Amino acid sequence: MRESPVDRLRGPVKSYKKCSFCEKTSDRVARLFPGVHDAYVCDECVTYYYHLLADIESGAVDPKSGVRLPVEDQP
Ligand SMILES: [Zn+2]
Repeated sequence: MRESPVDRLRGPVKSYKKCSFCEKTSDRVARLFPGVHDAYVCDECVTYYYHLLADIESGAVDPKSGVRLPVEDQP
């Protein structure tokens, strides 16, 4: 990922909150939800894990490894 001049001016500012899952900072995601002990989760990760959970429950993803299982009946 290339650093823009604006990013360089901002520098490593500690006040930037970031997602504990994907490490995107609050200025790079639409929403950042706070958890306990300075943990955060962004809207993108919420969406990702929401769909992952739905896929696990439907049997499309292995619940232990999180790996998507091969679909045998693809057109
Ligand atoms: Zn995230």
